[in-house]
Amino acid sequence: MNDRFLAERCALVTGSTSGIGLAIARALGAAGARVGLNGLGSDWQIREAQEQVRAAGAAEVRFLAADLARPEAIEAMIAEAAAWQSIDILVNCAGVQFTAPLDSMPTERWDQLIAINLSAAFHTMRLTLPGMAERGYGRVINIASVHGLVASIHKAPYVASKFGLIGLSRVAALEYAAAGSRASGGVTVNCICPGWVETPLIEPQIAARAAAHDGDREAGIRELLREKQPSQRLSLPEDVAALCTFLCRREAHNITGAALPVDGGWTAQ
Ligand code: NAD
Repeated sequence: MNDRFLAERCALVTGSTSGIGLAIARALGAAGARVGLNGLGSDWQIREAQEQVRAAGAAEVRFLAADLARPEAIEAMIAEAAAWQSIDILVNCAGVQFTAPLDSMPTERWDQLIAINLSAAFHTMRLTLPGMAERGYGRVINIASVHGLVASIHKAPYVASKFGLIGLSRVAALEYAAAGSRASGGVTVNCICPGWVETPLIEPQIAARAAAHDGDREAGIRELLREKQPSQRLSLPEDVAALCTFLCRREAHNITGAALPVDGGWTAQ
């Protein structure tokens, strides 16, 4: 039987129609939370995500549509969420990737990645943190990346957005550090920094390496891991979700302003 320690809480998870965000939504649902889902996808994909989170045990599930590249859509989404429930837990997980050398990076890709990976978190945080502080409990968990801690070639907007997300989270952690109490759980703001996680986001990078091995996907994965991740193992989305769920516990009240790697030793090198 799951520990339903989030039974009185409501979580909004952006980018939860796929990958890590969907795994986080399921995990928070399994802990008893009401869960607001957001992300792009077909009607079928959105229905399927809602079904999965409901089946995991969520007290209630609602889809909150918004293209996070548009600040006015984010404001409408947060207003819709607030009319439904007070947001106790905000997980900014939506993210996109595009790889190209700096001098041939399309400028519209720069704008898109900064908008979705960084500015969207600024907007969701500025609109939800005051309510969390008033209620004495709140959790903001931003899914950054190892690329918020170290760089790689051909990822200028992605790396810039993830370094920015860690900086933004640290500022918010300081501004809200004294909100609430040890008993209420306080308001914390943290980043999780995954290395390679098996989701659709990294498939183009696997495919590019597999192409050199007659399309052998496993060979592509081995090459990807050999370059950066000493454990030689991909993480599962559920591995990241487990850490996210722990951060929502009262006992995590003094973990704030952290950037926690889940990277098989990538950033220890
Ligand atoms: P994914 O492609 O499976 O999921 C991305 C999610 O973001 C989807 O739900 C998608 O619909 C949503 N999204 C994209 N653009 C959006 C927009 N404009 N508005 C609303 N939603 C939008 O990828 P993932 O691997 O699960 O990535 C989730 C997060 O984890 C991202 O922030 C990514 O940078 C980060 N991350 C992933 C890895 C990895 O190896 N997969 C590693 C480090 C960090």
